[in-house]
Amino acid sequence: MEDINIPENVTRVLDRLEEEGSQAFVVGGCVRDSLMGREPSDWDVCTSARSEETAEVFRGYRVIETGMKHGTVTVLSGGEPIEITTYRIDGTYSDGRHPDSVSFTDDITLDLSRRDFTVNAMAYSGRRGLVDPFGGRRDLADQIIRCVGDPALRFGEDALRIMRALRFSAVLGFRIEGDTQRAIRELANTVPKVAIERINGEFCKLILGRDADRIIREYRSVLETALGAEFSGTAGDGILPRLIDLPEDLPTRLTALDPGDLKRLRFDNHTVRLVRDMRSACRRISQEISPEMLHAGGRNNALRIRMRFLLRDFDQAAVRGALILLGLDKEQPGEIFRDILKKNECCSLKQMAVTGRDLDCPDGKTTGQTLRRLLEMVIRGEVPNEKEALLHAASLLRTE
Ligand code: ATP
Ligand code: MG
Repeated sequence: MEDINIPENVTRVLDRLEEEGSQAFVVGGCVRDSLMGREPSDWDVCTSARSEETAEVFRGYRVIETGMKHGTVTVLSGGEPIEITTYRIDGTYSDGRHPDSVSFTDDITLDLSRRDFTVNAMAYSGRRGLVDPFGGRRDLADQIIRCVGDPALRFGEDALRIMRALRFSAVLGFRIEGDTQRAIRELANTVPKVAIERINGEFCKLILGRDADRIIREYRSVLETALGAEFSGTAGDGILPRLIDLPEDLPTRLTALDPGDLKRLRFDNHTVRLVRDMRSACRRISQEISPEMLHAGGRNNALRIRMRFLLRDFDQAAVRGALILLGLDKEQPGEIFRDILKKNECCSLKQMAVTGRDLDCPDGKTTGQTLRRLLEMVIRGEVPNEKEALLHAASLLRTE
């Protein structure tokens, strides 16, 4: 077996616990990722020590005791927070979301048995080697997501695991084992009892995964039921690009998929606005940029003016996303878009060489109107964005 390369600051944590007479392993995602040759996002430690003992062992370290009730102590080691959790057995689940109680154990296998999937249910330490009671290594090699134990029972305990199965399948590119798959389909309608933020957290990771298109194609109805949403966008149906062909960027992929009301899914305001604007920008581009314009040679002034108007009305990020979604990013519209930005061509009021104060209008309303007229003229290339020229143009507007 290839060795798992545990970073120095984590090894220190394992060693301290072992020196004090406890067992300690790295566990879960970091073992899975290491065995796959991927860089783990973080290193979780599990131990036979109870959290009070752990806190005691790490006297002299910075210790964050917030999760003590659930057996978790966070220790700052090498400047990095390491979560150390006591081997745990989850009690019964009567709500399908949380265990009614948790108890602690000295048996690593019992801790691993509460974990969701075989590939997530392995522990490793340099001195004790790999602990893999559920065939996680084999499933890793075969690229399979399989529940630990009976899938229907495990999803019945915690319905979020249904979303997690789809997420891991999409991110790792693994297929889902038959019984696990059947239980996912049978129990999809139980997912909504989980907090929507948590469902959405998994969904976001899913659509950024390398196999997102496959999962959405194969589990579309499961996902729609789980999210209480309908995807209007249809990834990979030939109209919109496949998610995999889009950048690893949440707003762009969300726009392609269009799962409906993003506020209900608890997306932040910035994302909600950006997705709305990307969609509007897509519509504008499809309506306003004709095929002739797309293929016109030379400087293609008409197209450049259209692009400037888009940048007047939408953020750069929205226009960029729309161009990518429409497959125009590498074409002339994308080139012109980048050229406009590079040359810092004036497309917005705040880029203009005059402000309201320079104009000397009788009231605020007239000032606003005049500035907007001037901006249009600049965008069309009728007036250069220079103070004197703009003031002259403003005086002509006044005598109109
Ligand atoms: P990531 O790389 O996304 O962090 P991960 O496997 O570390 O993946 P986490 O959500 O950080 O996933 O959870 C850490 C570990 O805790 C998992 O590997 C799994 O063993 C266990 N786990 C997490 N959530 C659940 C759950 N809902 N049910 C059972 N076990 C879980
Ligand atoms: Mg993790």
